[in-house]
Amino acid sequence: MAGVWGSLSLVGMMGSGKSTVGPLLAERLGFTFVDVDAEIERQSGRTIPDLFAGEGEAGFRRWEAQVLQTLTQRPGLVLATGGGAVLDPANWRAMRAGGLVVWLQAPLDLLWQRVAGDAHRPLLAGPDARARFERLAQSRTPLYAQADVVVDASGPPHEVVEAIVAALAPWQVGETRLEVALGDRSYPVVVGVGCLDQLGRLCREQGLQGKALLVTDATVEPLYAQRALRSLAQAGLAASCAVIPAGESAKELATVTRLYEAAVEARLDRRSFVVALGGGVVGDIAGFVAATYLRGIPFVQVPTTLLAQVDASVGGKVGVNLPQGKNLVGAFHQPRLVLADVATLRSLSRRELLSGLAEVIKSGLIADAPLVHLVAERRAQLLAAHPPTLLEAVRRSVQVKAAVVAQDEREDGLRAILNFGHTFGHALETLTGYQRYTHGEAVAIGMVAAAHLSAQLGLISTAEAQWVAELIAATGLPTHTDVDPEAWLAAMSRDKKAVNGHLRFVVLEGLGRAAVRADVSPAMVRQALARVLVRAAAVGDGLAPSSAAQEAGA
Ligand code: NAD
Repeated sequence: MAGVWGSLSLVGMMGSGKSTVGPLLAERLGFTFVDVDAEIERQSGRTIPDLFAGEGEAGFRRWEAQVLQTLTQRPGLVLATGGGAVLDPANWRAMRAGGLVVWLQAPLDLLWQRVAGDAHRPLLAGPDARARFERLAQSRTPLYAQADVVVDASGPPHEVVEAIVAALAPWQVGETRLEVALGDRSYPVVVGVGCLDQLGRLCREQGLQGKALLVTDATVEPLYAQRALRSLAQAGLAASCAVIPAGESAKELATVTRLYEAAVEARLDRRSFVVALGGGVVGDIAGFVAATYLRGIPFVQVPTTLLAQVDASVGGKVGVNLPQGKNLVGAFHQPRLVLADVATLRSLSRRELLSGLAEVIKSGLIADAPLVHLVAERRAQLLAAHPPTLLEAVRRSVQVKAAVVAQDEREDGLRAILNFGHTFGHALETLTGYQRYTHGEAVAIGMVAAAHLSAQLGLISTAEAQWVAELIAATGLPTHTDVDPEAWLAAMSRDKKAVNGHLRFVVLEGLGRAAVRADVSPAMVRQALARVLVRAAAVGDGLAPSSAAQEAGA
């Protein structure tokens, strides 16, 4: 069956039929079946009861985590996991990163009938086995319930297989392709589910054929690097991998130097290319290396955060921070290809997902009203990282950015509208030392302030501005802060995007329409800030406007 992406991890209690249903399901899908316990036995050279006896349950769980981590990086597998695999959050992250998790659910009595007396199951050895089995089932059921797909596994195996195949149907979505139209530097943005495995083929399609340097960070590497490298190798593209530390602090010149050294060591030449696999930090830094190494070699963006998929990976801005400020050194260097696999967002923390959602909302507010409604109506699916909904949100956001970049590549005019909420947001980030808010959280508060500013300018109604604030609050993003307004204003006037000392604000002229205004008085800005300020005690991420906020804004 076409369209099932990544791997499928079967979870459920012992006796739910994972090892019986698994091979049949694999055959049905053209996948390969792997029994994780059997793989642990093969790799450790010991039987599961021996492992339990020698290393205890903790030792066995370490083996299980390690084996799962590797197997989930291989697409096209059906994995029968052990009943307790769901206990470790790292296993969930690996299983979700690799594909879908399927829970084979069955009544307790039936499960017991199937396993009672099985000497191969160490957790059932000894007296009171039934009571222990029931306690295990009770504690694990809420964990199994987190699976993407739940099927009734009490029937015959071939019926269970058909039930799984039917339940997978809503998850099968294809990929969509957009273009950033920049003449002979135009490039495709491929947005899809599970399309990471197409990386090599798509690089080839773009005419890339030399050696690749895959740059990733320490968090993303164990989740996706093997898949990316395998895909490149399958397309006949040799690649080496350089791993940088995760997080904004790595976005500095010292990391650039280390990557130049890795490029020299890998003997990258002018035909070679860089692949950035990770969030905006990896994209910005690897892109900067590509822009400058040998005076510029091609690069490919494979963004794995929502923020990077909808914003940072498209548009060609690359660079690093200096101790004196963010993004002070950089270049415009357009990628040859952007490959956004929304399935990779399933391993992202909720906070990072929300941070990217702020940019999705921004894209909608400035240029795509239906996208704003999509967020309003399907925010639960977005926050659950539901691939088809994410696909739509990422596609629409990229469309907005691609259209703006195509008209104003170097931010001489129109591109400034992408900074809606950012004048307020950047200043808030600076003021709070980049520690308190993620970029998206600061932008979220900034967008609320900018919406109120738009209402004060008479461009939208107060009710519309309030609607924007409520939408942002409903997603769980913050809408208020407690910083000193005068310090905030002062931080804004130091914004590097100020022209001749005059601040420019992006304002809304309606839902899906934005404009840049340079005629905003400090008094108006103070009024807008007052709408998003609360007393310290009332501040809380994601809180709806409190009464203190309303007092401040009144
Ligand atoms: P990030 O790259 O630091 O990623 C956030 C965290 O998520 C990191 O710890 C990372 O390791 C982790 N992560 C990434 N993908 C993951 C995944 N699939 N599963 C689990 N964890 C994952 O931050 P970001 O928010 O992606 O990007 C912020 C950076 O982007 C900033 O440096 C900002 O300046 C830059 N940016 C650039 C542009 C541009 O146009 N170039 C635009 C916006 C932002």
